[in-house]
Amino acid sequence: YNKELIRNISIIAHIDHGKTTLVDRILEITSAIEQRKMHEQYLDTMDIERERGITIKATPVKVMYTADDGKTYEINIIDTPGHVDFSYEVSRSLAACEGAILLVDASQGVEAQTFANTYLALENDLEIIPVINKIDLPNANIQETISELEDLIGFTEEDCIKASGKTGEGVKEILKAIVDKIPAPSGDSGAPLKALIFDAEYDKYRGVIVHARIFEGTVRPGDKIMMFSSGETFEVTEVGIFTPELIPADSLSAGEVGYIIAGIKEVSSARIGDTITSADNPISEPLPGFREVKPMVYAGMFPGLPEYYGELRKALEKLKLNDPALVFEPENSPALGFGFRVGFLGLLHMDVVRERLEREFEIAVILTAPNVVYRVKMKNGEIVEITNPAKFPNDGEFEEVEEPYVELSIITPSEYMGNIIGFVTSEKRGEFKEVENAGKNRVVLKFIAPLSEIMFDFFDKLKAISRGFASMDYEIIGYRPSDLVKVTILVNKEVVDALSFIVHKDKEYAVAKKVVEKLKDLIPQHQFQIPIQAKSRGRIIARTDIKALRKDVLAKCYGGDITRKMKLLEKQREGKKRLREIGRVTIPQTAFLALLKIG
Ligand code: GDP
Repeated sequence: YNKELIRNISIIAHIDHGKTTLVDRILEITSAIEQRKMHEQYLDTMDIERERGITIKATPVKVMYTADDGKTYEINIIDTPGHVDFSYEVSRSLAACEGAILLVDASQGVEAQTFANTYLALENDLEIIPVINKIDLPNANIQETISELEDLIGFTEEDCIKASGKTGEGVKEILKAIVDKIPAPSGDSGAPLKALIFDAEYDKYRGVIVHARIFEGTVRPGDKIMMFSSGETFEVTEVGIFTPELIPADSLSAGEVGYIIAGIKEVSSARIGDTITSADNPISEPLPGFREVKPMVYAGMFPGLPEYYGELRKALEKLKLNDPALVFEPENSPALGFGFRVGFLGLLHMDVVRERLEREFEIAVILTAPNVVYRVKMKNGEIVEITNPAKFPNDGEFEEVEEPYVELSIITPSEYMGNIIGFVTSEKRGEFKEVENAGKNRVVLKFIAPLSEIMFDFFDKLKAISRGFASMDYEIIGYRPSDLVKVTILVNKEVVDALSFIVHKDKEYAVAKKVVEKLKDLIPQHQFQIPIQAKSRGRIIARTDIKALRKDVLAKCYGGDITRKMKLLEKQREGKKRLREIGRVTIPQTAFLALLKIG
């Protein structure tokens, strides 16, 4: 153990800009372990992530690199999640490092999320090494990418390394820069323990495996540790390093990155961002920046068939073991029966949970349209958080409603700037803040906008407007008052609670109209006519009717006598009446998600 020979880094890159390829190349250059085995391991993330081309997070890797000075350095590469839902985790992964590689695809330029994460790294005082990647591509625009980095972050051409993870060009230079430019970690291995949890995973056999960066002190098997935020204590049974395989070690000391196993049963006891200290000799101040991750989006989740309720609950409990951001509580919907109100970090998180339920537990679920968390000030002064539109108070019962707002940054070729500003401000309730140049022909646009407006189909529309070239990132900046109303949907005169939604007053009519129209398309015809109505503030504000399915009863009696025809018609009318009285309208699953695409 020699702290001077350690470098802890992360790689900031947009999806597809070549992070995996570069890490594979680094492993190849530095590592003794068989190449193919490594490859599989680094890529060993969840299937869903791979299929979608996103990595929520990969295991850290430790590589040994012998530099020109003849010394062998230990480089820990800590992955950062590649999605805005997980931005808090990005910030904690960065906090575990002294430096970062900023990897930019020379054929794509700097994307909004990369830019935002670079700022996070700068705020954490990280030393940044900009790398212009994929320079082997014929359409690589190296000079333009450099001038974007100049404008956006202030790098000069000399700072930037030109590389290709594919051909290997520049990769040695990157390793050299890591050793030369990124400082070795500081800290005293003899001091009381102070370690940062930057990730945690649940293992069926070993319990929670904590991924930690030691800042002060040393941790060994047998030590009693304490989680700073909760005061919970545990006894360490194993510590070790990631190669990325878990390799046990005697101890982990200040500056090192590794894992800790300590009989922890739930990931909720090992929260990302929390500080681990010694139970017998605790520190007085934790590492800065810890906060509890709170779900931002809620949706109703119901088993496809009522008899699967119990199974769904068990599955959610299992998922929660390694996903502390997932929260749920029972919900009973008159329309959909027993289910859960489930909280997610964002829509990607919601999708991942749904897919895991399907694949790992073989449970199909009905999800209702997701909503943000509203904060309502009631007439009696009480503040309530609303996670379910059906529970939104009626007009007149409350004083004020607030909804979460974000600061939104969009990077786009300048030619689409006008249309994007128009779209965000006139359709999405956004407020335009500023524009900044990024290289010769791109700009960064900044807006303030409600989270609910940018979360759903915003990105698809942005891509359409910019022919796929714009990228976006957002950060929640807090709650602001907003003129919101609840719209209730009635199908066949019955309130379908699971279809209620909250909308801004200005959009009330337009959205209500779109929703009823959409439901008309999605709900199949029945034997009787079905009115679909939208109600807001005590009034019906939109209506459509689904026509009754008309069996051509007369056709059968072609040429028959008229009295038979009359009798049949009579019967059918009776039948219709009965159906209307007892009949439940079958609302297909898709109808509950219809709201997602409207707004
Ligand atoms: P990640 O999403 O950032 O991990 O990106 P990957 O490493 O998976 O790379 C995305 C795509 O770009 C893959 O098809 C790679 O083969 C390709 N790629 C990665 N690096 C390079 C490079 O340096 N040159 C070229 N031409 N292609 C690359």
